[in-house]
Amino acid sequence: MARVTRPCVAVLGGSFDPVHRGHLALADYCVKLFQPDLLRIVPAGLPWQKGGVHVSGEHRFEMLERAFAGYPVPVMIDRQEIERSGNSYTVETLQSIRAEIGSEASLVFLIGADQLKGLNTWHRWRNLLTFSHLCAVSRPGFSLDLSGVPNEVAEEFVQRMATPEAMRNTSCGSTCLAPNLQIDISSTAIRHALRQGNQPSALVPPAVLDYIKQHHFYQN
Ligand code: ATP
Ligand code: MG
Repeated sequence: MARVTRPCVAVLGGSFDPVHRGHLALADYCVKLFQPDLLRIVPAGLPWQKGGVHVSGEHRFEMLERAFAGYPVPVMIDRQEIERSGNSYTVETLQSIRAEIGSEASLVFLIGADQLKGLNTWHRWRNLLTFSHLCAVSRPGFSLDLSGVPNEVAEEFVQRMATPEAMRNTSCGSTCLAPNLQIDISSTAIRHALRQGNQPSALVPPAVLDYIKQHHFYQN
């Protein structure tokens, strides 16, 4: 008899200002690790810790639609944070996704290594794990070494550490560190290149770069 595995949803949140090939590589890596049935990409409405965005939620949503068009795994660009008023809190997003998918499904929230240091400043951060698993992925310039992160974050990660396979077979509450992605691309560098009049063609999918040029985003 075929083994029945639970459904799995992987979530990637961020400002995506703009979405870039690093985000796509992160999605590919997550697909390899977890074989999710659905990838939910959640553009932030108001990323309160960043103090704002450069382009509206609608346009960042449109760029994400273009970046993930034809992606080999089902993808949903999730509008909930851009439609919610006020600050975007990941814990609320994960709570609402959990309510939608039911208690059995495996839910994995992905973060880049740059997010580990400040994780304990996120709204109700410990509750993230009551709704989902948490997978931190390597990023050039940021260590996945837990000795560099606040004690309470390191402790949580160590105590809850599991393999991707175990996370795939449980619904929430575990952590993992995924060290095999090294893509040195950021939205900050792309915005900088565009302000300088350069075309960051290697960093952004062509359909996204066309959209940016058409709307004259990220100039001065
Ligand atoms: P910015 O420079 O504006 O902060 P960014 O490139 O960090 O943009 P975000 O939208 O802030 O992009 O990132 C969304 C999520 O994707 C975060 O969890 C971030 O850590 C992760 N991420 C972004 N780029 C990479 C990358 N190159 N490698 C691994 N993770 C990444
Ligand atoms: Mg960032």
